[in-house]
Amino acid sequence: NYFTKEGFGALVARFGADVRVELSTPVRKILWDVPGVACVTDRGTIRAKAVIVTASPAVLAFEEIEFAPALPDTHFAAFF
Ligand SMILES: Cc1cc2nc3c(=O)[nH]c(=O)nc-3n(C[C@H](O)[C@H](O)[C@H](O)COP(=O)(O)OP(=O)(O)OC[C@H]3O[C@@H](n4cnc5c(N)ncnc54)[C@H](O)[C@@H]3O)c2cc1C
Repeated sequence: NYFTKEGFGALVARFGADVRVELSTPVRKILWDVPGVACVTDRGTIRAKAVIVTASPAVLAFEEIEFAPALPDTHFAAFF
């Protein structure tokens, strides 16, 4: 909070102000053998050219998000 009097959270919020955000929309499955990707959520499926996954390694290690097809073993091992 040292360099902004509104607090660091305000800086992050301002930086992402133009980004569309949907809260409370957990991704259950990511299909990546389709053209682009399809992310299956509790609120429908989102299709995109690509997905950046920023869930924690623990979420990925416990397979809370299923990948179809499965990720290569070398990728999966990196979550532990
Ligand atoms: C108690 C505590 C105090 C901390 N204090 C500081 C500090 O003072 N300064 C500092 O720099 N760092 C601090 N940290 C560390 C900092 O919080 C983390 O490094 C940072 O939040 C990591 O950001 P991230 O985006 O990688 O992960 P996260 O913030 O964990 O974000 C991952 C997101 O993925 C979401 N997610 C999970 N599963 C799914 C799913 N299936 N579908 C969709 N979304 C999903 C989660 O809801 C979460 O919002 C602290 C951490 C803790 C625990």
